[in-house]
Amino acid sequence: MHETVVEMLARNAEHAEIDDARFDDIQNTQFPDAVTICCSDSRVLQNDMWGNDVPGEIFTVGNIGNRVTQPTSMGHLVSGDVMFPLWNTDTEVAVVVGHTGCGAVTTAFQYLTEDVIQPRGVKYCLEQLKPHLEEALSVLPEDLSDVAAINHLVEYNVDHQVSRLVGSEDVPEDVTVVGAVYDFQDVYSDRRGKVHVINVDGETDVATLRDENPDVADRIGRRWEYGRTPTAEQT
Ligand SMILES: [Zn+2]
Repeated sequence: MHETVVEMLARNAEHAEIDDARFDDIQNTQFPDAVTICCSDSRVLQNDMWGNDVPGEIFTVGNIGNRVTQPTSMGHLVSGDVMFPLWNTDTEVAVVVGHTGCGAVTTAFQYLTEDVIQPRGVKYCLEQLKPHLEEALSVLPEDLSDVAAINHLVEYNVDHQVSRLVGSEDVPEDVTVVGAVYDFQDVYSDRRGKVHVINVDGETDVATLRDENPDVADRIGRRWEYGRTPTAEQT
């Protein structure tokens, strides 16, 4: 067996030893409070970022670029991976989590500007990001470094995914949809690992978001308020 798998199984044995009783109430059912849709990047720890090690709390969806839709013969629909908990387990919160330095957004950005050699499956995923990132490029502030441009596009992508959930007739109206960015590059603050809220139910104005959500006002912030007057924190 590959040594990585051997190590993973050893750690899993430790995991299984933690508390066998924690599955007692949920081994036949689940009612997770939230579904999170994160980039599958290895640096984005879907449960750890929320301090969660309790089974049954969070329904986790992961893919490159934290996408919430899938193309079907009926058009672009909210992915079944996301709809499953919203429809079947009374989950009322959906959180789309992008992250600083996203490789999928970076590669999609390159894909827009140059030929990119990737397997067909990866290109298929990038094709899902391409149209709205292309739209973002036309309004991106000038003179940004490539790193800053990518992190602006990360926000734009999260906003786009949130809008797909909010605008979908499949997603129940009482579901709260939050867009966030997981920062491990000190882009938003000097504490890597923090999640920063950038969008709630389609609202992206930071002042409005802070007014409407005073309990988490200090966790709300954006790098890019496109179409609005730049604020100091965007520089
Ligand atoms: Zn990513």
